[in-house]
Amino acid sequence: MSRVYNFSAGPSMLPESVLRKAADQMLDYEGSGQSVMEMSHRSKVYDGIITEAQRLLREVMEIPENYKVLFLQGGASTQFAAVPLNLMTKSHKADYVLSGQFSTKAYKEAQQYGDCKAVASSKEDTFSHIPVLDKKEFRPDADYFHICLNNTIYGTVWNTLPETGNVPLVADISSCILSRPIDVSKFGLLYAGAQKNVAPAGLTIVIVREDLLGEPQKGTPTMLNYQVMAENESMYNTPPCYPIYICKLVLEWIKDEIGGLKKMEERNVKKAQMLYDFLDSSKLFKGCAQKDSRSIMNVTFVTGDADLDAKFVKESTAAGFVNLKGHRSVGGMRASIYNAMPVEGVEKLVAFMKEFEKNNL
Ligand SMILES: *Cc1c(COP(=O)(O)O)cnc(C)c1O
Repeated sequence: MSRVYNFSAGPSMLPESVLRKAADQMLDYEGSGQSVMEMSHRSKVYDGIITEAQRLLREVMEIPENYKVLFLQGGASTQFAAVPLNLMTKSHKADYVLSGQFSTKAYKEAQQYGDCKAVASSKEDTFSHIPVLDKKEFRPDADYFHICLNNTIYGTVWNTLPETGNVPLVADISSCILSRPIDVSKFGLLYAGAQKNVAPAGLTIVIVREDLLGEPQKGTPTMLNYQVMAENESMYNTPPCYPIYICKLVLEWIKDEIGGLKKMEERNVKKAQMLYDFLDSSKLFKGCAQKDSRSIMNVTFVTGDADLDAKFVKESTAAGFVNLKGHRSVGGMRASIYNAMPVEGVEKLVAFMKEFEKNNL
């Protein structure tokens, strides 16, 4: 067996020990005589899995008591609609910061449900940095203020959160959830598709402050109604059983093998630093994100020559470093170095890039 170093932006690598444990438990989960994929979601044994996954998420992320954790489906993209349907219920206004493609999609989707304002954008700079904010643009009566915390396609991250006063801050954390500690109490709602840092595709996590729950907009599909999902402990219907189980294993890995989110952050910073240090010293490669906005999860770079970029992607793939091609909308390269990417994977990638530089300069 040989495994590649997978730099995919998502779905992405899972920790090898998690995959091994899932393999061990594949045919017979803890003496139940069944795979987790096969068992009833209403069974006692499955209840143990989902309850523990939720408990661990609360523990590892230090989620305060007054927040609900929901395990949903539909990906982060479904939340682009669910957030306004559930939260745009008072003034029917919401402010959005456009820091990339996903936040722009979220903004466009929400426009169907109320009065949305783009209060800042970095589109003119191809989203190479977090937009500069002018607080005068913020609307104090908005039902919420939306940001995308880590911009997967461009490799940028918010290092300072916007000050929104009493307006609840809502963040898409799909590509940075569990990568470092996050002060949940600063947010009204957090959401994330699981396939970057938590589990296989199919699970969407929503963490919402209880006082924001209530009657959603008229016509909201039951499946998008947070209140219903919260009342039913994410079991209004069949939940994404297997991804929730893998989520539990990943949380055990973070807690027991890594040592928690502080340690996870140290490891992630170390990996990202290795790549950025190399990019800053390289004569061939250049980082795309502005320094003050650099993500520790997605590192974007170019050679400045599209043919050379293509050559790099081809040769790196052949050498076992896969999915380094940048997003189709921006080109260039992107190394997504989520939690499960071992330090050694980044060390070897940097060595490969050095060699490529030597041969192509
Ligand atoms: C991947 C991603 C999405 C899209 O997620 P889906 O689960 O595919 O809908 C949205 N936002 C961010 C920040 C992402 O990284």
